[in-house]
Amino acid sequence: MRDLPSSDRIIIFDTTLRDGEQAPGATLNGEEKIAIARQLARLGVDVIEAGFAFASPGDFDAVRRIAELVGTEDGPVICSLARAIPADIKAAAEALQPAVHGRIHTFISTSDIHLEYQLKKSRSEVLAIAEEMVTYAKSFVEDVEFSPMDAARSEPAYLYQVLEKAIDAGATTINIPDTVGYMTPSEFGDMIRGIKENVPNIDNAILSVHGHNDLGLAVASFLEAIKYGARQLECTINGIGERAGNAALEELVMALHVRRQYFNPFLGRPVDSEVPLTKINTTEIYRTSRLVSNMTGMLVQPNKAIVGANAFAHESGIHQDGMLKNRNTYEIMDAQSIGLTDNQIVLGKHSGRNAFRTRLGELGFELGDQELNKAFVRFKELADKKKEITDWDLESIVNDETQQPPELFRLEMVQVSCGSNAQPTATVRIRTPQGEELMDAATGTGPVDAIYKAINRVIQVPNQLIEFSVQSVTAGIDAIGEVTIRLKYGERIFSGRSANTDIVVASAQAYVNALNRLYVVLEGGSSTTQAQQEAGREAASV
Ligand code: MN
Repeated sequence: MRDLPSSDRIIIFDTTLRDGEQAPGATLNGEEKIAIARQLARLGVDVIEAGFAFASPGDFDAVRRIAELVGTEDGPVICSLARAIPADIKAAAEALQPAVHGRIHTFISTSDIHLEYQLKKSRSEVLAIAEEMVTYAKSFVEDVEFSPMDAARSEPAYLYQVLEKAIDAGATTINIPDTVGYMTPSEFGDMIRGIKENVPNIDNAILSVHGHNDLGLAVASFLEAIKYGARQLECTINGIGERAGNAALEELVMALHVRRQYFNPFLGRPVDSEVPLTKINTTEIYRTSRLVSNMTGMLVQPNKAIVGANAFAHESGIHQDGMLKNRNTYEIMDAQSIGLTDNQIVLGKHSGRNAFRTRLGELGFELGDQELNKAFVRFKELADKKKEITDWDLESIVNDETQQPPELFRLEMVQVSCGSNAQPTATVRIRTPQGEELMDAATGTGPVDAIYKAINRVIQVPNQLIEFSVQSVTAGIDAIGEVTIRLKYGERIFSGRSANTDIVVASAQAYVNALNRLYVVLEGGSSTTQAQQEAGREAASV
């Protein structure tokens, strides 16, 4: 087992695919989860929490396939969440079976309020369950993580007792969550120090932290926790997750990277040690952020630290002047360190299939023949419209071609007429899952409204559009526009995305993509049992 049970560096535990995916509307399909997992492995995360195997057959499958495809000898540890219940732990173990390094992450609440109202169990009962279930998990895998849920509201003496038992039973990582995102950094640091000082066997396990960003304090709290002995950080790309999200991986990693000298002594290193504090390949950060944003439909705000569009833009005149004289004047890190290169022009109209394939390979895309052909056709179409094709354009095309929901309804044609003193009117032709071609038209307040009304007349799934956004991939009038939409059906949110130089076409396609996702759920009915739904609700609070 690598780096266990003690670590002289910081372990990055990515939960984008478990906690991140619980963000409203971030739902990913199996293929998308695998693509993200592969990229997380390239990024160099130590652990991928791939899902909650017991939650549904789809979740089980995703964990199993990630274990199989990404959980290689040199790859990351693959982890599944499981309540402290035998059926959950068994499902996790089965799903993780193909992984070379598998981890079961089990949890139970330790606060009196949860014990009394949620679990309806006494303190001594919960103590016994924690011990038994860690032992049970340990019968399947060597690497077991235990989380006392609602640790912040638990009585410290009792919390220490539960943790001691869990470690005695074989837990190799102890994770302390601030589920509701209530604590200040110094309080969080104190809680970690208390655990370090009062749990006699704590040095036999890695101490981990998990938290939410309700007050915008998750990253700050984690950095404080490191000072008191936390060595694993549970985080997500772009900080996505329940409510205000989780601690953002890119912020934690770059804080540790840029302020290495500050953190070195807390890890027992000389102040000026140049050894990186994490195993993350920081130049993969930007690409990972884009991928997760594209697939989840959760856009990154422009002023977001590290990965926001403005994070490295120095617009103010004073700053620009300083920058020209010496980059270090106003820049604490360099855009290239997160993989934000000059976005050079790489291909053009005359580039052949080989050049195309080679460049995609360099960008980390491994496409099958069929996908490559489709992407190449798209590339040629784009090269006709746009003279210079950059890496970002390529990424946009490939993401668009390879990461789409199953094409139940297919947009065959969209045509719009609009302008001043005109009534925006759209005509669409759509092929249904039964192979029928249906055409309809509608008027609207604008071209996109008209398109959506026309599509609704054909597909007839009542829904509410709650977000519509257009972003350009690169600068310039001929840039590709990426349209991201989110729609609401009942309590659920579905996202759709499409990229095209024609934003009207992209808008129509993004809407059809979202409706396809919705339709899969409608047609499939609810494939989860009541027990599974309940499990999902509980997991949402870890
Ligand atoms: Mn959480």
